[in-house]
Amino acid sequence: MSATKAYGAQSATTPIVPLTIERREPKPHDVQIEIKYCGVCHSDLHTARNEWGMTVFPIVPGHEIVGVVTAVGSHVKKFKAGDIAGIGCLVDSCRDCDNCKDGLEQYCSNGMVGTYGGMEKDGSGATHGGYSKSILAHEDFVLRISDKLELAATAPLLCAGITTYSPLRHWKVGKGTRVGVLGLGGLGHMGVKIAVAMGAEVTMLSHSPSKEADAKRLGAQKFILTSDAAQIKEVMGYFDFILDTVSADHDYNFYLGLLRTSGVMVCVGAPAAPATVPAFNLIFGRKSIAGSLIGGIPETQEMLDFCAEHNIVSDIELIRMDQINEAYDRLLKSDVKYRFVIDMSTL
Ligand code: NAP
Ligand code: ZN
Ligand code: ZN
Repeated sequence: MSATKAYGAQSATTPIVPLTIERREPKPHDVQIEIKYCGVCHSDLHTARNEWGMTVFPIVPGHEIVGVVTAVGSHVKKFKAGDIAGIGCLVDSCRDCDNCKDGLEQYCSNGMVGTYGGMEKDGSGATHGGYSKSILAHEDFVLRISDKLELAATAPLLCAGITTYSPLRHWKVGKGTRVGVLGLGGLGHMGVKIAVAMGAEVTMLSHSPSKEADAKRLGAQKFILTSDAAQIKEVMGYFDFILDTVSADHDYNFYLGLLRTSGVMVCVGAPAAPATVPAFNLIFGRKSIAGSLIGGIPETQEMLDFCAEHNIVSDIELIRMDQINEAYDRLLKSDVKYRFVIDMSTL
């Protein structure tokens, strides 16, 4: 095991503080990465504060990781020292179940290993995320990053990018699709950019009046302030597809009313409280409500290549490692434009 500098939480009620973690010894298929930048996902906050009730402490969050390969094991074929590489939300899976064979490792029937808060399959202990100096993973779970894109702004593609890309692809969003993106934060702003690049007509649904100009700059054709009844009336029964990225508890039924017949609302936002949806809100209009978890490794690579081709990166606010608690407080106020990324040289 090797001692590694990191930042993490010791409990749900204490701030993110400096920690030393133990990383496992590298194996022949491992790629070792010096982390340059790590995005700050709202899931980091949900996890650090144990809002989903599943956190094992201490926890080192961070699953939007980009950096430079410092060493590779003897069996590694995809990477060499000096390459730019990325790690997203998962670092291992069984590779053998139907989902893994289909490239849907995030739905591994035997349990995927999360980049943080997971357990290494070799029994070497808990996984720790990207709020740290370095990380290592099997080459199958390491992504190639284009050198065409600005590195810091690429980090959020590893979670916010793939989490929005995957459902947009799965539900075949494209030219002629009326898409509503609910919530303009890290996921939401990537959802707007990617859906626009796919050719869809995109409307931003936001509870923050101050975000209208930004939503349009990001490519949304329309902006609807969800607290304004007159504006909501304009889009009742309008959308084919709603991508719900809201992190806080909210009423799904309100937004189901914005779907047209056969429309689908995909929840990627993961508030802690369970929701109640009466069957009649789905029956009338043959509507669906669905969920989607990040994306598999092949699709994550496809998304990175798509973003390189379309010149899509995240709009970021670069922060120092010691600003992380302030960044969390701002996430809770919907005050992020539109992803915090930690400059890991400040660790
Ligand atoms: P974020 O940057 O904090 O953005 C969340 C947005 O939700 C806010 O900017 C805000 O947009 C809206 N919002 C917040 N509080 C609200 C409230 N009280 N009422 C209405 N809208 C509110 O978070 P994120 O990193 O994008 O993550 C969003 C959610 O997705 C989190 O729950 C996260 O855990 C989850 N997530 C899921 C997956 C997955 O695989 N399914 C992957 C990553 C993240 P407006 O100001 O525009 O209203
Ligand atoms: Zn995330
Ligand atoms: Zn599997």
